[in-house]
Amino acid sequence: MTVSSLANQKLDIPAGNRWSRREDKVRGFTIHHQAGYNAHAAATAAGREVSAQYWIDNEGPIRPQVNEEFRAFTTGHAGYPEGARSDHRNITAEVSNTKRGAERGTWEISEAAKESLAALIGDVFRRYKLGRVRRGTYGGVAVHRDFVATECPGDPMVRALPDIIERAEWYRVHGGKPGDRTKGANPKPAAKPQPKPKPIPAPIPVEDEMHTTYMRDTKDKNGTIWMINSAGKRRALRKAEWENLKAQRRSMGMEIPPVEDVSAEELAKYPKA
Ligand SMILES: [Zn+2]
Repeated sequence: MTVSSLANQKLDIPAGNRWSRREDKVRGFTIHHQAGYNAHAAATAAGREVSAQYWIDNEGPIRPQVNEEFRAFTTGHAGYPEGARSDHRNITAEVSNTKRGAERGTWEISEAAKESLAALIGDVFRRYKLGRVRRGTYGGVAVHRDFVATECPGDPMVRALPDIIERAEWYRVHGGKPGDRTKGANPKPAAKPQPKPKPIPAPIPVEDEMHTTYMRDTKDKNGTIWMINSAGKRRALRKAEWENLKAQRRSMGMEIPPVEDVSAEELAKYPKA
């Protein structure tokens, strides 16, 4: 009974007898669109014989149907041997279209469904150790129309494939549930404890900032920055002091003061403090 932990078992779709033994090991993933927007209604409609490992709702939930160790009849049957072979080696999913996309036959997919699909693909590649998530009919991410002359999935899904594969790769590497990627979550491996940020040393006084200028002699190989105070006296800043000043200004949401590039003669006009 292998089912992705991302699927909600309470939303399962009865598999009936629409599955068989797998004659290959799991090597990849095949995407279908559902040509509808209500996965459960479509999958359980009288007379409609459906079979897939997973169904992804327009709002994002993932419904399990055929356990992963079995082959689902999603992509092919006796009349479509290439599709049937792909079902033996791939995990398959039917992805809901948006209501509008289903009604108009334009087959758009919601953002939530795409993110769930990406997480599911990443989870499959992660668990079966299939390597980097990539496009491919054998050992990659395939779509129904790779194997059988069909409109499934529609153009919006096909256009979104590179993006979905990129997202899936994130989930393969990091694990996590749909949406974690956009939160930047990193559940696995556990995040290392962050070192405490170094305290910023006592800042250079900001008083008279309006009248303080910073200059650098263009020919000075050390790039020493001089702070000229409101009284027109100059003082060389140590490198660390300048870095601290910048860090402090940034932390206060202030702009980094500009440094004027001047000649040695110009700089010499300001007596040392
Ligand atoms: Zn299909």
